[in-house]
Amino acid sequence: MFIGFGSGPSGHPGMTSIKASGPYLLFGVGGAVSALLDFAECDRARLARDPAYDGRFFTGVRPTGVYCRPVCPVRPARSTNVGYYPSAAAAEAAGFRPCLRCRPETAPFCPAWNGSRTTVERALRLIDEGALDGEGCSVDALAERLGIGARHLARLFAKHVQASPSQVAKTIRVQRAKRLLDTTGLPVAEIALQAGFASLRRFNTVFAEVYGRPPTEIRRRGSNAKPGIPHISARVT
Ligand SMILES: [Zn+2]
Repeated sequence: MFIGFGSGPSGHPGMTSIKASGPYLLFGVGGAVSALLDFAECDRARLARDPAYDGRFFTGVRPTGVYCRPVCPVRPARSTNVGYYPSAAAAEAAGFRPCLRCRPETAPFCPAWNGSRTTVERALRLIDEGALDGEGCSVDALAERLGIGARHLARLFAKHVQASPSQVAKTIRVQRAKRLLDTTGLPVAEIALQAGFASLRRFNTVFAEVYGRPPTEIRRRGSNAKPGIPHISARVT
């Protein structure tokens, strides 16, 4: 039996949540996470911090409102307080913020699903390459490149990724920006551009929505956490 929660964790107003139909948003109960994973298997992998599962699912932790990789170094939450998602975008769509310790944006790309895999994987790679960034880019055009209809693409994503192509594109843009914030000293405006955002303003809005704080604050934390990593100076002298 599935128990679905209709919304994400409390305390995050403005977050959208996916509709609680099907085996989504499962907390402390059995059920399918993806075509190849179920709750029990994810739970075992999370508690064992099994690196073989890294990138194959993400864990939403209800009391904290944060989502993690299976390898997160933070003490594991109780199984009754977690839910599992097949993609980072799905966890974000359910209202969870990325963990600042295990950094979901650095997880490898190895989703766990089968059936229609080729189309979904191709779509994800195209989105990763920027197929939905910038003007003139649309889900319709993406579907056309894949040789399928936009509605069919939407259905495939709902089933296997549990997030729409647009939600995935948003997550990927924020992830690109987060990696640049952590590993370079580039100005935030330049990062926004490189990550695929239409404007600095849009970047600041979306980033704050996903992380619950502005990019500058994340960069400070990142710098403090990794004092050994040299930052590239963008200032021309
Ligand atoms: Zn974590």
